[in-house]
Amino acid sequence: MQPGKQQITVAYGDGIGPEIMQSTLDILREAGAQINPEVIEIGEEIYKKGLKAGIEPDSWEVIRKNKVFLKAPITTPQGGGVKSLNVTMRKTLGLFANVRPCMSYHPFVKTKHPDMDVVIVRENEEDTYGGIEHRQTFEVYQCLKLITLPGTERIVRYAFEYARTNNRKKVTCFTKDNIMKLTDGLFHDVFKKVAAEYPNIESDNMIVDIGTARLADTPENFDVVVMPNLYGDIVSDVAAQIAGSVGLAGSANVGTECAMFEAIHGSAPDIAGQNVANPSGLLHGALMMLVHIGQPAVAERIHNAWLKTLEDGLHTPDIYHSDRSEKKVGTDEFTAALIKRL
Ligand code: NAD
Repeated sequence: MQPGKQQITVAYGDGIGPEIMQSTLDILREAGAQINPEVIEIGEEIYKKGLKAGIEPDSWEVIRKNKVFLKAPITTPQGGGVKSLNVTMRKTLGLFANVRPCMSYHPFVKTKHPDMDVVIVRENEEDTYGGIEHRQTFEVYQCLKLITLPGTERIVRYAFEYARTNNRKKVTCFTKDNIMKLTDGLFHDVFKKVAAEYPNIESDNMIVDIGTARLADTPENFDVVVMPNLYGDIVSDVAAQIAGSVGLAGSANVGTECAMFEAIHGSAPDIAGQNVANPSGLLHGALMMLVHIGQPAVAERIHNAWLKTLEDGLHTPDIYHSDRSEKKVGTDEFTAALIKRL
């Protein structure tokens, strides 16, 4: 290990994971990020060895020791018997908050919402993602939705603290408490109670279905939006896509001990190995990581170079539009162009 450098855990993941991780690490290195990556293998290769968790037991030690984890997307095998490693990681490491900034980059990336700048704060451990799911009879399957008072208080307070420290003006809560009166009712009640402690931050609550419709229509009316796990998973993909592309947004999974940074999208097996993936989502996750480990100046330098690359019209296929792009570039060319602009 090189002295003075922050040791981080890195996983290259599946599908487009290795391509976008290589791009991200190349950019971080060239920008002078003081990090020392320790690589672990997770995902498909580990599932193939018969380890249903998708991770080797020793790798947990590495993640816990380094406390900071930069993770490329992994493919979750479908069907029974195999757990989602993403869900396991968030629960095992106590990563209770999932922060997903979704903003538009008008006029460089085509969007119907030029003024969009929304941060989704998703509860990350509870709800229907608790893994309490079983077959009752041949015809009936059951999944339990778990919402707790301490878990809700923690995520709602996190959302307000995030708003306070990032000069955000409003926190909106999405629930379905007209139907799920106890679980989502608790989430809404806690929201009202915590909101009262932050009189300088505006707050409101919307039923998740109409809230999502309004978010998709007029995202400029939203600022920070906090919600239970499942809604947050879905709504953040919608938000990232209407901002410009699901390939642009990064996320921070934050706990009291560890933090994990990633793209919000998955392993995109449909475009893997073709050198067409947009590395920006993972890169944005990595920039949140740099801020988290106290290297905000490097993050800013990379972000400026990234913006300049977009401004110069060098666009990966997912954001390419003939009326505003100069050239359609692959992952490698985009990475090289960004590094040149550092
Ligand atoms: P996906 O996000 O991988 O892909 C959805 C669509 O977006 C695809 O058409 C894909 O080509 C495109 N896309 C995604 N990222 C892109 C990028 N960086 N550049 C350009 N285009 C991009 O969603 P999916 O297909 O539903 O899931 C594939 C696999 O990923 C599944 O096994 C799923 O479980 C897994 N997944 C993993 C994570 C994670 O590791 N955090 C998150 C979501 C899904």
